[in-house]
Amino acid sequence: MTDTTIEIPLWEVKRVLERHAAQEGMGLQILERPQETAQELGVNWSLDLLRPLLDTSAPANELCARYREHIKEQNAWRDRIRQEGSPSHPRYRAWRERQIRRTNLEIGAARNESIIHAPAAYELAVGCSVGCWFCGISAGKLSRLFEYTADNAALWNDLLRAHEELIGPALRWAFCYWGTDPLDNPDYEKFCLDLWRITGVFPQTTTALALKNPARTRQLLDISEQHDVLCNRFSLLTLRQVLGVHQEFTPEELRRTELIPQNKESILRKAEAGKARDKDREPLVSSSTIACVTGLLVNMCERTVRLVTPCKSDERWRDGFQVRYRGQFDTAADFLALVRGWFDSLPLGVEDLPLVRPERALSLKEAETGFAIGSELHQVRLQDPNHSAYLRELGELIGEGRHQASTIATLLSYTRLVPPAKTMELLESLFSQGALDEEAELWDR
Ligand code: SF4
Repeated sequence: MTDTTIEIPLWEVKRVLERHAAQEGMGLQILERPQETAQELGVNWSLDLLRPLLDTSAPANELCARYREHIKEQNAWRDRIRQEGSPSHPRYRAWRERQIRRTNLEIGAARNESIIHAPAAYELAVGCSVGCWFCGISAGKLSRLFEYTADNAALWNDLLRAHEELIGPALRWAFCYWGTDPLDNPDYEKFCLDLWRITGVFPQTTTALALKNPARTRQLLDISEQHDVLCNRFSLLTLRQVLGVHQEFTPEELRRTELIPQNKESILRKAEAGKARDKDREPLVSSSTIACVTGLLVNMCERTVRLVTPCKSDERWRDGFQVRYRGQFDTAADFLALVRGWFDSLPLGVEDLPLVRPERALSLKEAETGFAIGSELHQVRLQDPNHSAYLRELGELIGEGRHQASTIATLLSYTRLVPPAKTMELLESLFSQGALDEEAELWDR
């Protein structure tokens, strides 16, 4: 058994940590009985070397520093996707940025950091064959597939080009699944290759069917590697599947594949969203979402499209994302006209709102010298000891939810002698933070 770290590849560290994530108690076992656990896991180096990753009081070492660096690189890649996913359409871009800030207010900045706010997800099926009890987006049963026929391939390519015309290079961070499993569709790889030909990026894959046909999975990993995909993901529903994947694929083969252990022995907690809501099977992470698109959800079988953005799952948005618009298309030209109309009508400033009120999932509370809008996790605050009466009244008028921005500014110019431009500036800052309800217009239709 080697004690030096120089020749230990990071994919072997990753594999041990996957067992740690999949089996509650494995971390403690590694700390207490490293040698015995190394034998059990088939590792030929000392698991004591992983101590700094499992016990923050342990002194650092080279192996763990390398591993942490690797995680940092992965996070930087995620941040890059978020940045490059910024669309060229100005109103849609401003809307996306606001929704990212609103998500901070709803679910907290720490959780939102891991959401890429991708520009699009294309479903190549209706429903999903896996049927997870906890499905955070409530996928139905698999009922149809979008096959790679000549007509479908033509529609697909035309639609991607139309979408790219609308949002520019951001489209490269789209992917081809949502309430579907990519590997349900035998033609999935063909559609991905088209996306790569148009955008220059082969999409990331997340599947719960990695073991259904290991030869196909292996081939997909190879294609992904050839096209520089940095990370695919396998979702694993039972400990048996985790062990099966470890048996079927070498650590090196999975060096760019993240395992998500969803089994009941796992240390990961599922989001309280979609089907997991109201089920009392396991402790959940409360008030959450698994949605990661601030853009279009397109179903190619049904030819439907929705403009969506993540939110805290609640009674209204059980699946953890808001639907801003929904529609149907027959051709790529229909799609382009429909979506362009949506993007062109998104509000750009607070004056575009028919009335000013707090975003529905957020609460407005009086603060010491003003007020705050947000959740228990994150708030935007307007406070000033020299203008507390004015700010309180501003908060009250917003809370009433009956006035346009210009009306609020005029009222406060009479009651508090504050120039309307000052009030408009404050309202604009709340709007740009995503603290104001942008759905008012839709609700009142
Ligand atoms: S979580 Fe994924 S794999 Fe499971 S049912 Fe939902 S879409 Fe299918």
